[in-house]
Amino acid sequence: PRVLLTGGSGFIATHVLETLLARGHSVVTTVRSPQKGQAILQAHPELQKDRLDYAIVEDISQANAFDKAVVSEPPFDAVIHTASPYHFNAKDAKELLDPAIIGTTGILNSVKKYAPSVKRVVVTSSFAAINNIYAAGKGKIYSEADWCPITEEQANENPGNAYRASKTFAERAAWNFMETETPSFDLTVINPPLVLGPIAHRLASLSALNTSNQRIRDLITGAAKDRCPPTGNHGYVDVRDLGLAHVLAIEKPEAGGKRIFTVSSHFSNKEIAEIIGEEFPEFRDRLPSGEGLAPGDYPADGVYGFDNSRSRQVLGIKYRNLKESIVDAVNSLLAVEPAL
Ligand code: NDP
Repeated sequence: PRVLLTGGSGFIATHVLETLLARGHSVVTTVRSPQKGQAILQAHPELQKDRLDYAIVEDISQANAFDKAVVSEPPFDAVIHTASPYHFNAKDAKELLDPAIIGTTGILNSVKKYAPSVKRVVVTSSFAAINNIYAAGKGKIYSEADWCPITEEQANENPGNAYRASKTFAERAAWNFMETETPSFDLTVINPPLVLGPIAHRLASLSALNTSNQRIRDLITGAAKDRCPPTGNHGYVDVRDLGLAHVLAIEKPEAGGKRIFTVSSHFSNKEIAEIIGEEFPEFRDRLPSGEGLAPGDYPADGVYGFDNSRSRQVLGIKYRNLKESIVDAVNSLLAVEPAL
């Protein structure tokens, strides 16, 4: 099968790309610049252009941004849409909402209009589109049945809400498109919580590190020594398991029409700090301890639970444990900056 993967320069997309190639798919990936595209090709000098190539899509928040990229010879069988901004630096919610929503409806529209061979589109949504941040967490078991109830007004309250809203509204727009436009392809949505694990994309320095791994960087550099950052949502998934989940989502017919909540287990930033201290003794004196560690612990009144049975049953995912994710993530960061 031939697959179009959007946002191939990203943290998660790089693992999706590696998994696609390892499982024999041929891939075209969209990136924002020729430099980013060339870097991806250079990582695979053994592959010819018919196995791996790139297309430039500079800004997914422009209408019709994907019209050209969805056309290929031979034509695509599937599309995996991961590109979407994930950061908390937005000055205005629109910076996140537009690329998320217009990017998602845009690719669905372009596929419908110009890529009739596509049978399955997979969209990377998030636990952010499931989690009800306004409800008490204790005792709740989250599953694909849940939706984040955030409103347009709340999206503008702070950068965290802007991100949650971007993922929630984009996913809603995707399901709405399927209902109103009845395209010939079907849709699978993947909903990961915090994604941890080794980076495989090419970074010049750790200042460019993706958002979800920044807490690991801040622990090993000593930036969090006085105060372990609060954990936020207490669910994680390893990026390699998530990469495989995206690829299985195009390979398994029964994944069609479903949201799939890909969560491994609970974690806290305190546990991450403890794993680093045990496995990398050279960083022990940079890690928070005693009272400084407490803010990274689970909330005293308990945490919500997760139901990942659909991901195990439909996709057959077996999840890595936290220690493996953290050890491999730290080693991958040290490969970028050995002097740390
Ligand atoms: P990255 O920041 O590493 O990747 C984001 C990708 O989106 C990059 O390739 C980026 O391109 C591209 N992108 C962002 N804005 C635009 C735009 N306007 N036009 C074109 N491309 C754009 O983040 P992740 O890999 O972590 O995230 C990938 C997906 O996974 C996102 O949809 C995110 O919401 C979702 N997700 C991530 C989680 C996590 O914990 N990491 C958790 C749940 C969901 P460039 O690098 O060139 O800017």
